[in-house]
Amino acid sequence: MPELPEVETTVRGLEPILLGRRIASIDLRRADLRRPFPPDLRQRFTGATVTRLGRRAKYGLIETDRDDTLVFHLGMSGHWRIDPAALGAHDHVVIATDEGRRLALNDARRFGTLDILATADLAATPPFAGMGPEPLGDDFDGAALARALAGRAAPVKALLLDQRIVAGLGNIYVCDALNLAGIAPGRAGGLIGRARLDRLAAAIREVLVAAIAAGGSSLRDYVRPDGELGYFSKEWRVYGREGLACPRCTAPIRRRADSGRSTFFCPKCQR
Ligand SMILES: [Zn+2]
Repeated sequence: MPELPEVETTVRGLEPILLGRRIASIDLRRADLRRPFPPDLRQRFTGATVTRLGRRAKYGLIETDRDDTLVFHLGMSGHWRIDPAALGAHDHVVIATDEGRRLALNDARRFGTLDILATADLAATPPFAGMGPEPLGDDFDGAALARALAGRAAPVKALLLDQRIVAGLGNIYVCDALNLAGIAPGRAGGLIGRARLDRLAAAIREVLVAAIAAGGSSLRDYVRPDGELGYFSKEWRVYGREGLACPRCTAPIRRRADSGRSTFFCPKCQR
């Protein structure tokens, strides 16, 4: 399942193909993914020139000179294919540029979404309305975490997965950041001191930046026909590493199942 770093890497991979280019066509090869495509998507996007690519939480943003933004979410299995030689059954959307480059949005499980929104309304429109700060943005630090977690008795892990507190964090990066910061996932958010919240904010940035860097290096492999954007292999600190050594103290990493998700943590050095 693509997390924030994969979406960031995807956007960076799409940029050289789309930025400044005019959209020659967008072919919607079915009526929906997780939900129906907007009926005016094709008309609004075709002929527009791409002026900026970006990301908000786990959403990729493709802005145009018509003051629209094409918003994509990769769901569970979505990824873009660059200049596919042939289209497959799961290539549900195909974008062609004025240079003749082609991008196919492939999504076997169809949990992804594709929408077009007025750029000016983006911040006030679901899912962006009420979303917390970007973890890699200037608004996110220990002070922001202290404000958001004040008085909260819920476990810090659950609070970090709440998109209103910080945008775009998933289970993998929350587990790894809590380990890096030495904070127990079950600790009540409101009881964590300011110095430790500073460390936590820095740890969140560090695990995301490292993953994006790893994705960027694997991105070089995608510069070929049929290249797929969106997934890369990465070794996690604690995620998926039950029984292996904690990178902080070498004690065995433990896994706990709570509400359908696995929490990986070190019982010895995360307090
Ligand atoms: Zn440890």
